[in-house]
Amino acid sequence: PTRSSSNGSTEEEETLAMVKPDGVLGNYTERIKNAVVESGFSIIRETVIQLDEHRASTFYVEHSSKSFFSSLVKYMTSGPVLVMILKKENAVADWRAIIGPTDARKAKITHPHSIRAMCGLNAEKNCVHGSDSLESARREISFFFGEISTDAKNLCKSTVTYRVN
Ligand code: GDP
Ligand code: MG
Repeated sequence: PTRSSSNGSTEEEETLAMVKPDGVLGNYTERIKNAVVESGFSIIRETVIQLDEHRASTFYVEHSSKSFFSSLVKYMTSGPVLVMILKKENAVADWRAIIGPTDARKAKITHPHSIRAMCGLNAEKNCVHGSDSLESARREISFFFGEISTDAKNLCKSTVTYRVN
């Protein structure tokens, strides 16, 4: 939800968006980025990376006990992904609404204009990711973009000599 600050202006939020391997390999990246910009998001940072098994498993650790987990990890490591930090008011909920329901096959029926309806295939190969809450967004943004600063913070905490500010 959009929060209002004390002076009445609305605060912007950041969320993590990802074009998954089927989206990148299926040449949907430009179409998805157009949808991002046309929907009023700013792309704050972006990177293309190849996830390995450890990194994909860690990203989806909440699903590690599910029957589809090994298949999910195999899918997520099947090619490069485009990871983006998107920013605007209400970014988390708005991006989830634009990508549509998890199962792309169902999305084609219930949310035909969603990104997953346009680019996805089924419950697994659904082409895009979006953080499901502000808390997830923070975790996922630091998962991909925050490791250096997190390390630096820990270093500052434990090693007085290396305090940088
Ligand atoms: P999301 O937040 O909408 O991406 O959905 P979830 O967090 O529930 O699931 C994470 C990802 O796991 C989904 O985006 C799919 O790629 C995959 N997934 C979810 N449900 C299933 C399922 O029932 N079967 C399979 N094979 N994959 C699934
Ligand atoms: Mg999820």
